[in-house]
This record gives sequence, C-alpha cells and structure tokens, in this order.
Amino acid sequence: MVYFIGAGPGDEELITVKGMKRLQVVDVVIYAGSLVSKKLLDYCKSDVEIYDSASMDFNQVIEVMQESHNKGKTLARLHTGDPSIYGTIKEQMDELDRRNIPYEIIPGVSSFLAAASRVKAEFTLPGVSQTVIITRLEGRTGKSEGGRLDELSKHRASMSIFLSIQDIEGVVEQLKVGYSEETPVAVVYKATWPDEKILRGTLKDIADKVKAENIDRFAQILVGDFLNSEYEMSKLYDACFTHMYRSGTK
Ligand code: SAH
Repeated sequence: MVYFIGAGPGDEELITVKGMKRLQVVDVVIYAGSLVSKKLLDYCKSDVEIYDSASMDFNQVIEVMQESHNKGKTLARLHTGDPSIYGTIKEQMDELDRRNIPYEIIPGVSSFLAAASRVKAEFTLPGVSQTVIITRLEGRTGKSEGGRLDELSKHRASMSIFLSIQDIEGVVEQLKVGYSEETPVAVVYKATWPDEKILRGTLKDIADKVKAENIDRFAQILVGDFLNSEYEMSKLYDACFTHMYRSGTK
C-alpha cells in the first residue's frame, strides 16, 4: 500500500493527524528533501527506510514503490503542502494503476493557505472578491493552460501564484494588465518555517523588495485587494440577515 501524504507547508505540526498517524507506522518513506521538513521524519518508527526523492528520477521512485509492494511493506510518499497542487502525483498514480499497486491520498495544508494565515488575510471578502485563482507563471513551453497571468489578472480576483518568484518582474508586468499599480501584494517565503520571510508592498514596489531580499525560490506571491481593503461585513453574522439556521431579528 502506498500513501500519498500532504506534509503541509513546513511546520511539522501542520501535517494532518491522519497523515502523522500513517507516518508513525509505515515501513518506507519517500520525501522531497528540499521542500519537506526533516522534522516530520521524527514521527516515523526507528527502523523506517527513508529515501529523498530530490536525488531520484521518476522511475527510481516507482521502483521503490514496486519493491515495497512486493515485500508487503507500507510506503508513505510525502509531498509538500497538498499533493493535488503542483504535486506531480497524477503520473505516479497512473503508473501505480498500471501496476495494480493500491494507494490512498491523505490531503495536506497547501502553502497558499499557510501563506494566507501568516499574513492574517482572508481570500474571500464580501464586496472585494469571492474567487481565488491558483496559478503560476507559464512554463518554458509557453503553453497557455487556462490563461496567462495577464488574462487572469483581468478578473481582479484574489490570487495565489506558485513557482514564479524567480521572475517577479515578469509576474508584475503581466499582473499590471488587469490590476492597478496600487494593488497590494504579499510575498511569503517559506511560510511556517523558522526562516520564513514576509514582504508586503504593491505591484509598484514588490519586485524591488523581493530583489533586495534575494528571494528567488520557495515563495508564495499573494495578490489582490483582499490583502488590504474596505469590505462589507459578512452577511452571515448580520443580525438583519435571515439564513438557514437563524431567524433574523427584524
Ligand atoms: N503541493 C505544494 C506545492 C508544490 S510546488 C503545496 O500545496 O503547497 C512548490 C512551490 O510551492 C514553491 O515553489 C512555492 O511557490 C510553493 N511553496 C511550497 N511550500 C511553501 C512555503 N512553505 N512557503 C511559500 N511557498 C511555498
């Protein structure tokens, strides 16, 4: 049995209880050493076999899964954040399907949620935005898989941009097509890790701030008026508002 487990954003207490309990009992662990905290491995039993996927290619990862399966061992594949987001989990699952190796997925706290918690923000503010776009700068293939940043920026939604901090200037340039220059931006480097850094600015100045701090990897770029704006009070707690569970007082 293979368990794909979301390790959470960094802080070893941000794995789910279910994920932690699995880690405590598995025989083998494959984890992404560059992005997943080693402290999570402390949950494992003492004779666990550990592989760092940073130094393995796809076939080697699958081979370890196959061998563990053949020997009747349980294996945890630890993915940073949640495996369903930029996790390359699909190709692994498809290969396991072909090989009839059973697997289960245990979700995790994605880094975009961790980043929002660190800047104490709510993505969905009434009267500001009720839509969250999760995206990245397009890859080297130049393909537009659902919209380039400049097109997406026209929605003026709350946005979380992964895997793109290395070209913050390119990100800003595209975002300025739809958002105003004054739109707030927060860059969260290594959210919930001990060396986390938070930079706040606007589309006008965030690129300079990122360059000054030499941040070129491992960061979330959060964009949108949800970061700093007037909003309407949620109707949910409004005394005049009647909803399913409460009757209004008027
Ligand atoms: N599955 C992961 C994302 C993997 S892609 C998730 O759900 O978060 C790796 C990218 O995720 C990084 O380049 C960075 O953009 C982002 N990321 C992962 N962990 C992060 C963290 N702790 N703080 C900020 N960004 C992070």
